[in-house]
Amino acid sequence: MTDCIFCKIANKEIPSNIVYEDDRFLAFLDIAPANKGHVLVIPKEHHEVYIDLPDEVLKELSLVTKKVCLAMSKSLKNCGYNIFMNNKETAGQIVPHAHFHIIPRFNDDGIKFSYEHKTYSDGEAEQFKEKISKEI
Ligand code: AMP
Ligand code: ZN
Repeated sequence: MTDCIFCKIANKEIPSNIVYEDDRFLAFLDIAPANKGHVLVIPKEHHEVYIDLPDEVLKELSLVTKKVCLAMSKSLKNCGYNIFMNNKETAGQIVPHAHFHIIPRFNDDGIKFSYEHKTYSDGEAEQFKEKISKEI
């Protein structure tokens, strides 16, 4: 996509700090990291969100993500790591080109992924279970 910033990064029209590249995938440092070493992993092909990714692209993307996690774990002293993807604006997606975030984690690094836990009323969990499972 011509006006997509991650397509531009994939095409080298915009510079980035690349940690891994092959013909179909790219992993590069997030420009505004949650922690130093925060990496984004993208398919070079443009797809907006997780469920748009063709199965074989998703499989490969997962394997590239694992490769980066392994390298991160080795190079950053056995750090922990969070892997996540924001999908759609409502979920915090800013760049509409599907990407995994990998954030290296250390003891007491001050990062919080917190939310208030909600509760189901009587029978509500079953309704959600039904709604979702019947589409699978
Ligand atoms: P998301 O909310 O999942 O769409 O996150 C997009 C991420 O892309 C943010 O963490 C940004 O810091 C990062 N980002 C935006 N522009 C660039 C860029 N030019 N190079 C590297 N990372 C970027
Ligand atoms: Zn794109």
